[in-house]
Amino acid sequence: MSTAVAKKIQMVDLKGQYQKIKTEVDKAIQEVLDNTAFINGPAVKEFQADLEKYLEVKHVMPCANGTDALQIAMMALGLRPGDEVITASFTYIATAEVIGLLGLTPVLVEVNPDTFCIDAAAIEKAITPKTKAIVPVHLYGQCADMETILAVAKKHNLFVIEDVAQAIGAVYTFSDGRKCKAGTMGTIGCTSFFPSKNLGCYGDGGAMYTNDDELAKKCRMIAHHGQSVQYVHDVLGVNSRLDTIQAAVLKVKLKHLDEYAAARNHAAAFYDKAFASHPKIKIPVRSANSTHVFHQYTLQLNGVDRNKIREGLAAKDIPSMIYYPIPVHKQKAYQNENNANTNFSNTEKLAACVLSLPMHTELNDETLQYIADHLLTLLKN
Ligand SMILES: *Cc1c(COP(=O)(O)O)cnc(C)c1O
Repeated sequence: MSTAVAKKIQMVDLKGQYQKIKTEVDKAIQEVLDNTAFINGPAVKEFQADLEKYLEVKHVMPCANGTDALQIAMMALGLRPGDEVITASFTYIATAEVIGLLGLTPVLVEVNPDTFCIDAAAIEKAITPKTKAIVPVHLYGQCADMETILAVAKKHNLFVIEDVAQAIGAVYTFSDGRKCKAGTMGTIGCTSFFPSKNLGCYGDGGAMYTNDDELAKKCRMIAHHGQSVQYVHDVLGVNSRLDTIQAAVLKVKLKHLDEYAAARNHAAAFYDKAFASHPKIKIPVRSANSTHVFHQYTLQLNGVDRNKIREGLAAKDIPSMIYYPIPVHKQKAYQNENNANTNFSNTEKLAACVLSLPMHTELNDETLQYIADHLLTLLKN
């Protein structure tokens, strides 16, 4: 068995990643400091243009964080209190939170136990005359079943708001061969640049993307106090900006995003090989239609005491996480009648058996072997 690794293992190694791009990043930040254009400085527009090109989308609208991106998108689409918005029961709370915050009704739908993403077949059953939008979450870095979701949305005339916070850069292939980046297929995509996300800045940040000119204009206006021209406020807005310093960091990191995805895929392939044949482990299932950018590498453990495994890993300085231990429908703040009669057995099973292992851009084979060996040993006991 491999022995202790030299460097402390982390879920996400931001420091190791920074060290490699320090010269570029420091220079970019210093430029912002020299210009003192902290709000809407040139780096914001430059990063926006770079991201539009990378995603092959007409408009990127930067904002302060991923939660704001979802909220502004829903405001810009004109969703009104009482409207129902369908989303996944197994997601980070922000997705459901903004729906509730705007007085809309979150209608939670079961997920697919293989992909962890919203069960596209279950969506149609949840549609009522009040339904206005579907929010698929591309959980852990792989796209939801967008072809089916877009077809259902078209049939029922619904908006599709993609939550791309965990899947920036993932590519979806439609059955006609057409390829699209995550977040550019629906009405609008919403992402987060939280430091630990695949494209993370050094603070908070977020963005929306769309090919719709009018919608882009509305989002920009809402993010800027509903202002059309200075001191003229046409609609109710919020204050949500991407800081220039964060945009400068993101502009540097965007150039490395594909390398980062490759490094994450290397780590995932290593884990896959180590765990694939184990009877108590289900490795992440790769969707046939989507690439995976491995925001998380999440195993399903069966017939084991998950807490004991986590403690055993921690004793060897191996961190692990449970994303997410309590599904949205079990949260006190989200008990509503729309969810009362629905079966969430997949979600509940996942919440009880998932385990995410360290996943980042700086994992070497020695560290991966160390993690794999120890997990396999713990599963023997
Ligand atoms: C991180 C995340 C968000 C929220 O992003 P913030 O920038 O933290 O506000 C929303 N949805 C999902 C699925 C996320 O993982």
